[in-house]
Amino acid sequence: MSNGKSSLVGMAPVKFHVVFVTVLLCSVIQLGFGCSDLLLCRSCGHEVAEDTELRFVPSRLALSYRNDTKIGGKRVSVQLFENPEGLRFEVVTFRRADVLKHWPADVHFSWFPGHAWTVAACPRCRAQLGWAFQPAHWPRTVTREEFEGSEETFVALIIENLLQEDFASSLIIPKGLRS
Ligand SMILES: [Zn+2]
Repeated sequence: MSNGKSSLVGMAPVKFHVVFVTVLLCSVIQLGFGCSDLLLCRSCGHEVAEDTELRFVPSRLALSYRNDTKIGGKRVSVQLFENPEGLRFEVVTFRRADVLKHWPADVHFSWFPGHAWTVAACPRCRAQLGWAFQPAHWPRTVTREEFEGSEETFVALIIENLLQEDFASSLIIPKGLRS
């Protein structure tokens, strides 16, 4: 069993252990002392983003806006959008996140005027986590390095598809013990 799948499985306990230690440290120092909070893919537990990467990008196309959600002990701004099919999504914006982007980018129906979008998926389980945005004047397809290296790009993640590590800890610890 030395295929890619088994090595991924083999890595999981290490990752879960790291998350567990982080959760433990954060609870020991009662948060608010600079502990970063991890956001995980709700489907598979993959670490998608840290709260330190949060960056609010306001859009005039948002249907509504609220800031009653906390990530890493800090209030974050959540915007509600509707797609052309009438489906609504609450999203939080990040400077960057560990997501797969499905280029080419599309300039139509963008929730952030002046930006083109790509679907952003979990690199492990491929579940859609949100959308990545890049300047509309850019080539439709760019490299990951170009995307990550720019200050003009960001990622909007569907809050419902994420799990905060403090919620996840009760799920993660038994998983680590089982392996
Ligand atoms: Zn996933």
